[in-house]
Amino acid sequence: TIGMLAIDKNGNISGACTTSGAAYKLPGRVGDSPIIGAGLFVDNEVGAATATGLGELVMKTLGSFLVVELMRNGASPQAACEEAVRRISEKHLKGMDTPPQVGFIAINKKGEHGAYSLSEGFKYTIYQGEDNQVIDSEFELK
Ligand code: ASP
Repeated sequence: TIGMLAIDKNGNISGACTTSGAAYKLPGRVGDSPIIGAGLFVDNEVGAATATGLGELVMKTLGSFLVVELMRNGASPQAACEEAVRRISEKHLKGMDTPPQVGFIAINKKGEHGAYSLSEGFKYTIYQGEDNQVIDSEFELK
C-alpha cells in the first residue's frame, strides 16, 4: 500500500491510499485499503492515519481509525502509531513464525507526524516547503 496524508496551510487534512500490493491474494480478496477506518482514516478535527502491510491484521483492529482515536484522546502521532502496532502484535500474531509487516503513518492537526511498524525497513517521506525528507520509522521487533 502507498498511503499519503496531507495538511494544507489552513490546517485542512486529507488522505489517500492505493489498494493492495499483497502477494498471492485470493481472487476477490478485499484488502484493508478500501475499508474506511482500516487502511485509511481522516478526521479533519483530529488528524489522519494510513496503514501498510498485512491488511487482515489492520482490518481486525480498524487500525487507522484506532490511530486517529488515540490522537483524539491526546496521543502524539508517533505514540498512536506505536500503540496500534503494539495492539496488533499482542493480540494477533500468536502462532505466526515470521511476523508479517504492518505499519502506520499519521499526522495531526498541528502537522506533527509519526510512524511505526512491526519490522525494520519501513520508510516514509515528509514533503514540507521545498524539502523532501526520508525518515526510517521506528519498529518494534528490534
Ligand atoms: N495492505 C495491503 C493489503 O493487505 C497490502 C499492502 O500493503 O500493499 O491488501
